[in-house]
Amino acid sequence: MKEVVVSRSSALKLEKFFPWVYKNEILSDEDYEKGEIVIVRDELGKSYAVGYINTNSIISVRVFDFKVKDIDEEFLKEKILDASLKRENINSDAYRLIHSEADMLPGLIVDKYGDYLSCQFNTAGILRLKDTILKLLSEIFTPKGIYVNADFYSLKKEGVADFETTVLGEIPDEIIIEENDVKFCIDITGGQKTGFYLDQRRNREIVTKYIKKRDRVLDVFSHAGGFGLYAAAKKEAEVTIVDISSEALLLAKRNFSLNGAPLRDAVEANAFDYLRELRNKKVKYDVVLLDPPSFAKSKDKKRSALRGFKDLFVNGLKLVDKDGMICIFSCSHYIDMDDLKDIALKASKDTGIRLEVMEHLYQDTDHPYILNIPHSLYLKGILFKRNG
Ligand code: SAH
Repeated sequence: MKEVVVSRSSALKLEKFFPWVYKNEILSDEDYEKGEIVIVRDELGKSYAVGYINTNSIISVRVFDFKVKDIDEEFLKEKILDASLKRENINSDAYRLIHSEADMLPGLIVDKYGDYLSCQFNTAGILRLKDTILKLLSEIFTPKGIYVNADFYSLKKEGVADFETTVLGEIPDEIIIEENDVKFCIDITGGQKTGFYLDQRRNREIVTKYIKKRDRVLDVFSHAGGFGLYAAAKKEAEVTIVDISSEALLLAKRNFSLNGAPLRDAVEANAFDYLRELRNKKVKYDVVLLDPPSFAKSKDKKRSALRGFKDLFVNGLKLVDKDGMICIFSCSHYIDMDDLKDIALKASKDTGIRLEVMEHLYQDTDHPYILNIPHSLYLKGILFKRNG
């Protein structure tokens, strides 16, 4: 195996199990093949990890293991089995089976939807192992079909231009899954992300517990209807869903009828404009849910993202009736729990409404949060109750 020499500061981070080496931390002046396996060592010759390298990417080395070993079929099999074992307590037949660095398989995402798998190969390094990984997934899980996909935004950053989406076996247009006794229709090959927002599963259940029978619920950024559908199915809530995507709304409507749950209204709109419109009409709800997409994909987008969040929260809060609730999420690493609290405090001042924190919410455990990898905690939310 080739070696890569890294700076002292990088070695210190590796000692604390941080799994990346940035481009400016590499000292060796060698040519590496895109994605080849390397041993990571310092100038004194001490080795810290084994991973793959791609100097086209700012994150130039991603670690597979902090002990030096061969990255072969046996190694990959062990990691896949470990990841599968971790998910045994998930109350659903759909879950994230492999979550990249958090499962020590950097660049690889695998979601399981019943008998089907949806994979993303998002780096040059993991792409080199694609055939072995697909063979192992087939052998271990005997799926009826595997969708082999990639996040093209990530691949571009890796300098990979050629990737073709493929299907092994067969994937139907519709897969029905069930989580916490609620059914969802999944479109793996045509949907957003890998088909469904699995990471909110636990939060849907927690938030629903606080919703009262026949509450008026406004589910903004509803996608497949997740939060609103739980509320309608479990609490007979009067639900309005809002999304900018007509396809997401179609899917959501399909999911409501699949569960025999009533849907009051499905609104195709830009949430920012629509909340303002409702505010002007002085409409009220018992529960307002705000689950926007990632507005801050990089650090420099943080300021404008914070402005967006504040706008959503102030207008959302104005719609909440006395003793009602509001819930806000951030799925960006750069907007953390403290930012959400700060936004809520400012909105509380602007609206003159006191807020009580009912729950701190995080991604479900099939998207593991590894303490040593700060980036692995990406989904945060707070459920507030309006006091008075
Ligand atoms: N709450 C969902 C996941 C939301 S994902 C669940 O539990 O599964 C974010 C959603 O926001 C996507 O469906 C996307 O279409 C929608 N979206 C993005 N920008 C929007 C905007 N400006 N206004 C309304 N919806 C938007």
